[in-house]
Amino acid sequence: MKKIKILPEELSRKIAAGEVIERPFSVVKELVENSIDARATKIDVELISGGKKLIRVIDDGEGMSKDDAQLAFQRHSTSKISSENDLLRIQTLGFRGEALPSIAAVSRVILKTRTKEDLSGCYLEITGEGEYKISEIAHPTGTSVEVRDLFYNLPVRKKFMKSVQAELSLIIRYLTQLALSHHFLQFSLSHQGRLIFSYLRVNNLRERIFQIYGRSFLDQLFEINFQQEDFQLNGFFSRPPYGRPNKAWQLFFINQRPIKDKILSSALNQAYFPLLEKDVFPAAFLFLNLPYQDVDVNVHPTKAEVRFYQPQKIFNQIYQALIDRLNQETEIKEIWPGQELDREKSFKIMESPPPYQPGELVREKIFWKDLFSPPTAKEEERYPKVLGQYLESYILVEDKEGLLIIDQHNAQERILYEKYKKKIENKDWPVQEALFPILLELTPSQQLSLEEKKNMLETLGFKLEPMGGNTFSLRGFPEILSSSQAENVFLALLEEENSKKLDNLLDSLIATLACKTAIKINHPLTFEKMEYLVDELFKTSNPSFCPHQRPIMVRITQKEIEKSLGRS
Ligand code: ADP
Ligand code: MG
Repeated sequence: MKKIKILPEELSRKIAAGEVIERPFSVVKELVENSIDARATKIDVELISGGKKLIRVIDDGEGMSKDDAQLAFQRHSTSKISSENDLLRIQTLGFRGEALPSIAAVSRVILKTRTKEDLSGCYLEITGEGEYKISEIAHPTGTSVEVRDLFYNLPVRKKFMKSVQAELSLIIRYLTQLALSHHFLQFSLSHQGRLIFSYLRVNNLRERIFQIYGRSFLDQLFEINFQQEDFQLNGFFSRPPYGRPNKAWQLFFINQRPIKDKILSSALNQAYFPLLEKDVFPAAFLFLNLPYQDVDVNVHPTKAEVRFYQPQKIFNQIYQALIDRLNQETEIKEIWPGQELDREKSFKIMESPPPYQPGELVREKIFWKDLFSPPTAKEEERYPKVLGQYLESYILVEDKEGLLIIDQHNAQERILYEKYKKKIENKDWPVQEALFPILLELTPSQQLSLEEKKNMLETLGFKLEPMGGNTFSLRGFPEILSSSQAENVFLALLEEENSKKLDNLLDSLIATLACKTAIKINHPLTFEKMEYLVDELFKTSNPSFCPHQRPIMVRITQKEIEKSLGRS
């Protein structure tokens, strides 16, 4: 009996299709990349059931003529490459001419399209193996591809698709990456008819990051624009000590293409290693531009991985560019606004104060005056008096009895707790709509906790809408939070249990809100800010303990000091 058989055409097509199309995400990726290649300026993606039931990608690109529309579904048909030489210089995102036929082999596809030159548009519905219906329709310039019932004819593949939320979050992550690398395009995504995000076109990456992640996250980043011959590195990176609890915020792009790569990742993380605490990782939007012959994007069927021809050189260049830029950041650390001084210099000033000049640095003035000239009678009355900041974490204060060392975080926590509580009781608590709804995946236990705390969270201004399955959309939150804080704080509140030290659960939640929004330790403060904090602290009902009953200050009396120094 003959063992070797030629695979039936239909089966071989399905197998080939499976290599390109693994899941809804791969369909979205191929379709959106086609839209970009067709010079679209606006791309809308619509999904049902995480894309398992329906994926629709609508663009305003060049569109296709009736003839091209039919050709597009044949294997290895592409308008983007015609010889092997072209392979070396590929700039467009797609180029294998495999995507549309592969998608059509494993789903039900309808294409609608029109070019600028054509008077009427084209409707093309794939009805079976190499069969289709085609007709004329009215259609705006551009293309819409609708993909239904993915893997309806490949039951095994169908089973391998993950949950709706898992597929949806992959797609969200991908489109977010694309929105970052293509800030000049407009993107929207909706799921089950609800809009998840809509990003209008903006002028640069900075604006896009702001649009997606909000002001306070952007403020924790610095920008790099580095060029050396053919090598170009651009992007935004965490400014230490800021960072993220995991590496999910590290996005890499080569020639505008989102990619994963160990070399880039290790250059980044090694450069930051000495600068961040354990378990803190830099956020990075790293854009590398290289000549097309220095990098092979053709190693991975969906082009997510790349191969460098000189990996060590790339590693060194990125590492060095980052280190140089990071050095600038830490050297010019603004301890005093407006003056560029590093830590050593500031200590030198404390040891041997320079001659005081009117109008000089505020802090210099205070050290000089307070430590080396007798206080005037008028100032004596102004107790408690701020002396300075220790370790960028503790405020040193003098009062009539001696020295106070005040924990800046705990102090502000107490102040904010009382302020928030009063505002909430008085219903004077501003809330804001989320500019871009924040999608959250909640575990079953978090969902349970949500049910219990729903009323209280609403009182605090958190507005949450179920999106189906475990997905929820955070659409509103207290005005005191930035959109990038909102998610973390909300999750912390969900985890919060009623603290025994507080009267009720709402108070616990307010305390947590205060804790999350208070200034952290290891954070430089201006004198004005310290004085304000100390004043406010002594106005609270309990300046000694934060709402969670941690002490706010340590006191060393004048007597204790004198005794220790053998003066009494
Ligand atoms: P590839 O993108 O690798 O060329 P595809 O199968 O993805 O192969 O697409 C085949 C061809 O169909 C493309 O080369 C392009 O000419 C055309 N095409 C696909 N999608 C679009 C679109 N959204 N707008 C205009 N033309 C498109
Ligand atoms: Mg393509």
